[in-house]
Amino acid sequence: MTTPESAGPENANAILTVDLAAIAANYRLLAAKLGPIECAAVVKADAYGLGAAIVAPVLHRAGCRRFFVATLDEGIALRQVLGDVDIYVFSGLSVGTPADFAAHRLQPVLNSLDEIDRWAAFGRAQEPRPAGLHIDTGMARLGLPPDEVTRLGEAPHRLEGVRPTLVMSHLACADEPEHPLNRPQLASFEAALARLQHGTGIVPGTGSPPVRRSLAASSGIFLGEDYHFDLGRPGAALYGLAPLKDAVNPMAQVIRLQGRILQVRDVDTGMTVGYGAAHRFTGPTRLATIGVGYADGYLRSLSNRGGAYIGEKRAPVVGRVSMDLITVDVTGVPRDVAHPGALVDLIGPKNPPDTVAGEAGTIGYEILTSLGRRYHRRYVGETGHAPYAARAVTTADRTIA
Ligand SMILES: *Cc1c(COP(=O)(O)O)cnc(C)c1O
Repeated sequence: MTTPESAGPENANAILTVDLAAIAANYRLLAAKLGPIECAAVVKADAYGLGAAIVAPVLHRAGCRRFFVATLDEGIALRQVLGDVDIYVFSGLSVGTPADFAAHRLQPVLNSLDEIDRWAAFGRAQEPRPAGLHIDTGMARLGLPPDEVTRLGEAPHRLEGVRPTLVMSHLACADEPEHPLNRPQLASFEAALARLQHGTGIVPGTGSPPVRRSLAASSGIFLGEDYHFDLGRPGAALYGLAPLKDAVNPMAQVIRLQGRILQVRDVDTGMTVGYGAAHRFTGPTRLATIGVGYADGYLRSLSNRGGAYIGEKRAPVVGRVSMDLITVDVTGVPRDVAHPGALVDLIGPKNPPDTVAGEAGTIGYEILTSLGRRYHRRYVGETGHAPYAARAVTTADRTIA
């Protein structure tokens, strides 16, 4: 059960376990939260670092039929994996030609009048082609600003050749339910939908296939029905991140990252550890060196701030994170537990990605998308559907309860 290029988990410096059953359960929870409304899935950035080629089919089997990626290349790769789903590309026609999108049956999310014009010209020369429209309601990153929505409403012929299947916008502060920007963004989205309907005859929510309206990503789904429209498009929550700040996380934890202890040593008062001698010991201390570093996405900002768990016991990171190694204080852990070869949880039940992110001064999204390429990756929790025989695992291998 090892990949051909790997010496197996027992010989790996670190093991990343991805619980596919937890991802499926998270999809079902979000779908239930949306009730009768469709739940899509965002699998950009290689499914937030977890492996889109493996994760997307799991979501498909859980019932997902509509997927979002960020780039054209991600869309092309996803099309190889899933033949019969709708795939939207957030970055739209800013990169790539309409022919590239059409060749892989990808729908650009059109972000400007210029992109609409290009897609429309292509569609008029062939046949009307499906696409999404992105309306900017306050993020000021991508999408048609209000004046372009107005201009589109005044010149509906610009959409001839375009078959809109989606009108979407994105919330800036949805993880804070009381944030004063949420309601105005909702109102602005509704106003844009009304302008489109009035000017272009696109009646969002209707049609065949229907023009779906979508505002909510993971956090927006938890803001209530007003924000649901016709389609939710969660990413982070599928992968176990908390959708709301300062609230209990209802999502199942998806990943566990175990690092291996390479050496254990005793140090004494006055000694220092690691680059820059950034930690000085004030008493006799036992140190464990773990074979994971910033080259693996164990962020350098966790120097003197992060922690590993050995069972219930926290072993704080002492000194700087280096490229391939960290050092943790295991003074309080029995020698027969913290020994060379033992595995410690760098991300696990006691320190989920959001917690590690807090210690690193970042967000769970960055922890996930930074997960390193050197980890031995183990996919567990689903049987009989392993996309690669070499990665087949059984439920007996499940290491996340
Ligand atoms: C990344 C992204 C999402 C998914 O957001 P999550 O917070 O991960 O659920 C949805 N919509 C857009 C436009 C995005 O860029």
